[in-house]
Parts: sequence; C-alpha cells; structure tokens
Amino acid sequence: MGYILDESSMQKVLDALKKDYIIYAPKRKEGEGMYSDTDCIRYEVVDKVAEIEFFEKSNYSFKEVLLPISQTLYYFTEDEVKEAEPERKKGAVIFLRSCDLHGVKRLDQMYLQNGFVDYYYKRLREAVKFVVIGCGKSYDNCFCVSMGTNVPEDFDLALYPGEGGYHLESRWDEITSIVGQLEEKEIRIPFVEENDVKVKIPNNLSIDIIKSSMWEEYNSRCINCGRCNFVCPTCTCFSMQDIFYTDNGKAGERRRVHASCMVDGYTEVAGGGSYRRKNGERMRFKVLHKVYDYKKRNGYHMCVGCGRCDDVCPEYISFSNCINKLEDAMKEVSNNG
Ligand code: SF4
Ligand code: SF4
Repeated sequence: MGYILDESSMQKVLDALKKDYIIYAPKRKEGEGMYSDTDCIRYEVVDKVAEIEFFEKSNYSFKEVLLPISQTLYYFTEDEVKEAEPERKKGAVIFLRSCDLHGVKRLDQMYLQNGFVDYYYKRLREAVKFVVIGCGKSYDNCFCVSMGTNVPEDFDLALYPGEGGYHLESRWDEITSIVGQLEEKEIRIPFVEENDVKVKIPNNLSIDIIKSSMWEEYNSRCINCGRCNFVCPTCTCFSMQDIFYTDNGKAGERRRVHASCMVDGYTEVAGGGSYRRKNGERMRFKVLHKVYDYKKRNGYHMCVGCGRCDDVCPEYISFSNCINKLEDAMKEVSNNG
C-alpha cells in the first residue's frame, strides 16, 4: 500500500523534510554535458520537486554527497591543527535509484566496516535518509539485473511519478504522518526486471585470469583519462594534498580528493617505481577489483551494474563487454596451462 500525491502535496512533503534535511537529487544542467549542446545530470541541492530529474539516468552518482570530490580535513599552521567543519550540519535526504542504493552498501563497507571507521565519511553518512526512485525502464548500458541490484533493499521512501501523480511508499514514520491523511492506495513502484545488456561472470574466475592476452587490447584503446572511476558509485579511492597558502607558506590545509586507478601516478612509489604502467594492467586491476577480489572478501560484487562507466568512456570501452570476455579468457589461460 502507499499513496498517490499531486504536485503540491509532494512539494509539502519536500518542504517538511527541508526543515531538518538538505535534499539532494539528480538535476538537469542544461548545456553542461560532455559534448556541445548536451545536458548533464548530476547531484545538487534541490528546493522544488519539479527540479528533480526522474526519467533519465544521472551521469554522475550520489557519491559526492557522502564523499566530496575535494574535502578539507583540517587546517594547519606551524603550531596548530584545527579540524575542518563538516560540509553540512543538517541531515541529508538523497533521491537515488536502486543500483545506487546498493552502491551505498559498498561505500559503507569500504569506509565503515573495513577494519576501521573513517571519521569524515561517518559524519556525513549519519542522519542520511534515502528515497529510492523507481525505474520505469532500463536505460542504455544498465546491467543491474545481472548484478542483482535492480530491486532496492533498505529505503525510507520509494517514489515514482506514475499515473495520477507521485506514487509514494513510506517506511518513514515522519512522512507517513504527513501523507497519512490521504487515502491509502494500491501502488507498485516499478523496478526493471530485464536489461538489454547482460553480463556473465564465470564461476571459475580465478587469479590466473591475469595471464590472459585480453588485457593487451586496452594498452592502446584506453587513454587513462579516469572518467570511468569518477562516475562510478562504488569507486572509493582518494589521494591527499597539502595546500600551502600563498600569503603564509607555513599555513595551509590538508584535503583529500578523488583519485583514479586508471590515471598516471596512481601506483607511483618512492624511487620512481610504478606497479601498473600499462593501461591494460590498470584495466585488469579495475575489472578484477569490481567483479573478483571484492567479492572474495565481502561475499558480493562491488560493481552494481549502473553502466555509467560505459556511458562516459570517450574511447567507447564497454565494461560490460569486458566482463563478458572473462569466460573466454579463462579458457585461454586454462588451455595454456
Ligand atoms: S564499474 Fe561501471 S557499471 Fe559497475 S558500478 Fe562502477 S560505473 Fe557502474
Ligand atoms: S573512461 Fe575509458 S578511456 Fe578513460 S580511463 Fe576509463 S576505460 Fe580508459
């Protein structure tokens, strides 16, 4: 059961939420897309329901709300260190799709349950509520069904602009008390049951796959731009930067910024060494992290099948195709002994 709300009732729900929460949702940025005359859909603070893009996949994920692209951790002088204030002092409500909600579970695993608690992630993660947006259709390059992320697990609200208004399912008492005056209706928030793109991760996938020749193709095709990492809701790497102020070179701030395993410098170590110089080696690392070693440690795959890496790659490298080559690659390495 749920409720069907017209635009003004839905706005009332949003206005009630705004008292205690900042609302983040996918928003269309006209003319700011990858190519001229194209739009970009990315996460921003929204005030009005009408600002939310419900019918297209966002180019970037919700990730920046919990992991800012550049985050100041503390300020320093010669004598003192002062912790930076959190980016927001209120809770947050994030509108996101089922695959991305599964992505939150991966971020939590990396930053909260991976042997230590990341203080800066934790303080942004607290008091966050999730509104899952139904998917009326499968979008280009999505393969969420293969990855088992097409249906959401835990959410506070589920929402879909369907016939007659906004279809809302509430598991959040505060919201149920607002919409509870409305008549309850039989609703079904849609989630996709089939994608055009399907992937098959071979059951016998083993570390021997690193010997396959399949990775060589990416030495020339990939231009190590790192875009695939930046749009991925489950990529969690960062690097540290100390910024020294120009008016006092002994004072500054430490920031952590998103990093990419595909770009130059990521594996550089003291003495000029680098673990993965070739682009094919970097691709191998990324693919195996997403669909092999993370699962060995945590019991489920890291990739949620959102397809954003395929959408954004300027070289038309398809991550799903790459996964689908693993079966033949395992045969190749088995045949070669
Ligand atoms: S690897 Fe690609 S398809 Fe998988 S979660 Fe990341 S961006 Fe989405
Ligand atoms: S987006 Fe494409 S070209 Fe850029 S690093 Fe990723 S795979 Fe390589």
